[in-house]
Amino acid sequence: MYSFVPNSSLNHQDKIFFNLPFDKKKVSDLINWSFSKYGEKKTVDLVEKLKSIGYSHATSAGISLGIDDLKIPADKKVFVNEAEQQLNFTKQNFEKGHLTTIESFGRVIDTWNKTSERIKKQVIIDFKAFDVLNPVFMMAFSGARGNISQVRQLVGMRGLMSDPQGKIIDFPIQSNFREGLTLTEYVISCYGARKGVVDTALRTATSGYLTRRLVDVAQHVIVRYFDCQTLDGIYLTTISHGSKIILKLSQRIVGRVLAKSIYSENNTLIAYRNQDITTELASKITLHTSKVFVRSTLTCKVKKKYVCQLCYGWSLAQNHLVPSGEAVGIIAAQSIGEPGTQLTMRTFHTGGVFSGSVSEEIRATHNGKVFFTNSTPGKLVRTAYGQIAFLTKQDSFLFLSQITNNDLLNSPIKYQIPAYSLLFVKQNQLVIKQQILAEVSTFLNGENQSISSSETVYSDFSGMISFSLNDTLHKKYQTKLESKSQQKPISESKLINTTKRKLISNSSEFWVLSAQSETFLKPVNFYCFNGDFIQYHANLYKSNLKFVPEKKSFEKYVNNIQYYDYGQSVNSEQLITEKYFRKNNYFSVINHQKTDNIHDFLMVNNQHCVSNHFQFDYEKSSIKYKQIEKLKSDSSQLQGEVIFAKSNNFFNTDLNQYTKGPLPKMYVLTDADLMSWDLNGQSNQSCKVKLGQYVRYGTKVIKGNGITQSGIVISKTKDKLVMRKAKPFLLASNGDCSLSHGDFVNSQSPLLTLSYKTLKNDDIVQGIPKIEQLFEARENMKNDHSLNSLVKKQFELYKESYTKQDAVRKSVKYIQQYIIDGIQYVYQSQGVNISDKHVEIIVKQMTSKVKIISPGNTGLFTGDIVDLDWAELVNRALDYENNDNENKKSEYEPIVLGITKASLETEGFLSAASFQETIKILSQAAYFKKRDFLRGLKENVILGHLLPAGTGLFSTT
Ligand SMILES: [Zn+2]
Repeated sequence: MYSFVPNSSLNHQDKIFFNLPFDKKKVSDLINWSFSKYGEKKTVDLVEKLKSIGYSHATSAGISLGIDDLKIPADKKVFVNEAEQQLNFTKQNFEKGHLTTIESFGRVIDTWNKTSERIKKQVIIDFKAFDVLNPVFMMAFSGARGNISQVRQLVGMRGLMSDPQGKIIDFPIQSNFREGLTLTEYVISCYGARKGVVDTALRTATSGYLTRRLVDVAQHVIVRYFDCQTLDGIYLTTISHGSKIILKLSQRIVGRVLAKSIYSENNTLIAYRNQDITTELASKITLHTSKVFVRSTLTCKVKKKYVCQLCYGWSLAQNHLVPSGEAVGIIAAQSIGEPGTQLTMRTFHTGGVFSGSVSEEIRATHNGKVFFTNSTPGKLVRTAYGQIAFLTKQDSFLFLSQITNNDLLNSPIKYQIPAYSLLFVKQNQLVIKQQILAEVSTFLNGENQSISSSETVYSDFSGMISFSLNDTLHKKYQTKLESKSQQKPISESKLINTTKRKLISNSSEFWVLSAQSETFLKPVNFYCFNGDFIQYHANLYKSNLKFVPEKKSFEKYVNNIQYYDYGQSVNSEQLITEKYFRKNNYFSVINHQKTDNIHDFLMVNNQHCVSNHFQFDYEKSSIKYKQIEKLKSDSSQLQGEVIFAKSNNFFNTDLNQYTKGPLPKMYVLTDADLMSWDLNGQSNQSCKVKLGQYVRYGTKVIKGNGITQSGIVISKTKDKLVMRKAKPFLLASNGDCSLSHGDFVNSQSPLLTLSYKTLKNDDIVQGIPKIEQLFEARENMKNDHSLNSLVKKQFELYKESYTKQDAVRKSVKYIQQYIIDGIQYVYQSQGVNISDKHVEIIVKQMTSKVKIISPGNTGLFTGDIVDLDWAELVNRALDYENNDNENKKSEYEPIVLGITKASLETEGFLSAASFQETIKILSQAAYFKKRDFLRGLKENVILGHLLPAGTGLFSTT
């Protein structure tokens, strides 16, 4: 490829022939090259000719799109299948409880994102290999119309969509426009499309307002004078973020003027002070130094907010020194504001399709064995996708040796692992080609581009929480099944009381054991105990809704004693107390309690109404009738084992008596909660699981396929294996769960909250708030990173080693650099190039003021906001006046004004009044008898004067 750096070996007479296709970038390079080499006139002629050639050939070519031009890569199906396999694996891991919801979601997004990128790359490879003159390919890659994102949507795969909140939907659009979308895909697309439209409508206004504010704060900045003679300047370096280079130094210094001469190692002059840096010089300088001291508008000494030509450097439109009179403030404001508007449109054109950044990966180049020569400090972490990795804290090296027949074939290959990388391999681990060795983490070292979110995980089914993995509860179930004495109550309360809630940080997971919840009204006495089996429509409890005593209590002596068991049905004729029952009625003993010699019976009739309640005294052989409560009782909707939740202290699960307070919760272990397998008497050979064991999804319990639902083994006999359905939930270190062991949850009730960090969706729509935050010096609510607190912190630091005056200057320089880097980071991450000098002009307006802390004898007031230059001047003036008193000088601290505030702080009032709050500013101006010296452009526009700007207006001094 031919480079368009002006080549000194070419001379004017040489005919130059570029035999290569010219895209937009190349044409612009050509014009640039011609401009810098042959000047304006020749370039205009060249452009004219280019235009004629372009029109003529475009007309004869007549490029248009046909449906056959949309060629789908043959490998697409393979890629999609591979992704689906990976996702299947992810799903299994999630079901097994090895991943949290967030991690599993993250993996889904990542897998589809990578697949979409792969398909996109394949599209380009296919076009380049088979069809270079394809109209789609030509249009997108010439830079004329369309971009790779649109091509991807046409012939690749549309990819992931964002929902209206900006969250990514984990259902990718696998089709492209050529294939056509399915109904579901179409509906999901609508979210993204609508978001695009709404964003465009809302954000154009926002970015337009940003431009307006920028213009207002910098409109009066005009180039005046040739040289302000300052020796000051700023250092420029490469801006990088982690291991990623954001803005190269060689790119940054082009068009700047050196503030200090640069010498090479052997003291030969490379570039001298006040020399402007061309592209060639820039590459020469960067060979010798990584830090260049250049003149800057930030340090220009020209007063009244003007700048000098040398401090500004090149006018970027002409690539030579800026002419005097240029309104560089407005140029700066527009240069920063315009890309905002542009990028807002870009979101619209891509139709809301998500394009996340794929993290940098270090993959093995061949099969081999990993080894490290020295240990690296770091710690084991769980990555956002649920992998366990080693987070390095220093730069380190990884070696990979190739192994064949136990011999080292080649010298090992050295991989550099930057600090804050995630290592996925261990010492002496064998790896295969293309295996990921490490990942350069993008957001662990950069604090401001990630946002914290949290997500609550809800239970799929109702059931009991179990933190304990060797639960004794179900061993009792087994014994009970075997003894078949189903009426024998089994108390769960002991287990619950002894198992205390485990600390979340210690336990990595918990299980929800399935059970159905039974609803009821206000109960008094339950007829069932923990562990009982109940049938459908069995009486569950006595409700005190209708409490009607029928008879007074009385006593009767009897001779014939009969006992009745709990649950036994009794014919009234057999009853000892037949006299008091109607004949031919069946009753059920529903409560039979025995204390000492007294048997207490509670009986209900067929209609489930309590009909009798009496006590039988064994010693006295007497029956004592108690108050008969004509109560309504409720019947069960479920069938199975009863489990009471230890919901409160008012309910005694042993006595089944409910006194007051919140209702107890009752659960029933129904058939729906159980899974069973026939073992055909071969339990030992075919079934490896043990009683009480938690079995995860996918485990082969008996021969055949793995189970499709995790569970716990509650019974294992010769013939049958019974498991209770259960689901594991992983508690990562960032999880928060307020449940304890033994708690019951209903279906869809919250189980735990996971907090996590996500990268911000990488588009300017998210970028604009960040730019605004910097330009407006807003407080950041989450972390104390507001510009003002930063500058204050730095000021305190500098005060320890410098004089106060120097400390202010130094901290101002520090914060200026911070803002510039921050703004450049946001724009560069969007692929937008903005020259530093534009940002510098704006930043200078924000940081030129200081706040008076103590006025001394200057006549200023505490809290006054004045120009830094002015504050220093006043202090210097005091030196001349009186040398003996030190305390007289004022003290001040650096502050950062947001652009809105800064523009309202300007000395005149007309410009401010035309910006916002007109009435307030005009009335204040009138009240304080303010004057306007009409120094800016706006003021003169308002009054209809000639503009005090424009080249040729001022004579250069
Ligand atoms: Zn200057």
